[in-house]
Amino acid sequence: METTRRDFLVRALLLGGSLALSPAPLHALQKKKEPWQPAYEKLEKEGKLAQRIKQAYSIFERCQLCPRQCGVNRQKGERGYCRAPVKPMVFSYHPHFGEEVPLVGENGSGTIFFSNCNLRCVFCQNWPISHEGRGEEIQDEDLANMMIKLQKIGCHNINLVTPTHVMPNILQATRLAWQKGLRIPLVYNTSGYERLEILKILDGIVDIYLPDLKYMDADQAAKYSSGASDYPEIGKKAVMEMHRQVGVLKSDEKGFALRGVVLRHLVMPNRVAGTEKFVRWVAEVLPKNTYVNIMAQYRVEYKAFEYPEIARGITVQEFLEAMDWAKKYGLVNLDEKSVSIWKIYNRRRAG
Ligand code: SF4
Repeated sequence: METTRRDFLVRALLLGGSLALSPAPLHALQKKKEPWQPAYEKLEKEGKLAQRIKQAYSIFERCQLCPRQCGVNRQKGERGYCRAPVKPMVFSYHPHFGEEVPLVGENGSGTIFFSNCNLRCVFCQNWPISHEGRGEEIQDEDLANMMIKLQKIGCHNINLVTPTHVMPNILQATRLAWQKGLRIPLVYNTSGYERLEILKILDGIVDIYLPDLKYMDADQAAKYSSGASDYPEIGKKAVMEMHRQVGVLKSDEKGFALRGVVLRHLVMPNRVAGTEKFVRWVAEVLPKNTYVNIMAQYRVEYKAFEYPEIARGITVQEFLEAMDWAKKYGLVNLDEKSVSIWKIYNRRRAG
């Protein structure tokens, strides 16, 4: 049928009127912002969290939670290399203001320090907790209540320090805490000595991974971390898996961390930590904007006095060369506190 000039005008007016009266089609073009929710909440709503907890708990019967793979039955009271019982042991829990700025925010990172450790380094700064196992044995329910208390006092996340050997308890406690209203990100603050098979259980539960990558050389790892010569290879694979799961760090509009990897590396005296190799590796296998904290706070602790090459703090020169390497290899998302120290010493170097 032929369209007359009158029909055309009527249609044009109707269309114009409908656009003016109903702006919905234009709004539909704008992308609606999804409200943020923690990873564990999504998994719980999909009905998968309980199954992961069951899977994790079954590992206690022949413990292979970490690369030591002791095979002891922790359900029956046997203890492996980490000396941890089957129940979680906690030394303390409180807001912590010494972590990276995106984790600390305004009210602190809700830190829970677990007793015992599966790596056990000779220079451990938490040795009374990690080596001597100081702390109290609690129930998973108590752990859930700690998480809730930390959220109530305004902490921005739950920061689980040395979590590897108590991972099943953490998962159970997280589910219980979610039922009581926990809605802040989980931070998995680990030495990096993690099995891939175990990290896969955490996929979709942990929001922020906070691993160390301590050494790049097998002999150094064995010497200073209780024979763990496989640490560099295992740690690198673990960091890559963490990145696969949560990606580069993302924060909210205030700059508080929500999801991603925050990678730590402690500069040690006499280049023991292999810092140049570390930054080169990060630049080669991870995005250049991976959040990297090159830490200057090495201090002589525990048995480090017995090893002359690490029985002193680091020098300004050692920290500057570490940061210079990071710049040289193109890392662009370095921790702001480290960058500030670097700038101060750089000015002195220039002057
Ligand atoms: S978590 Fe402890 S008991 Fe289990 S494999 Fe590791 S060191 Fe052994």
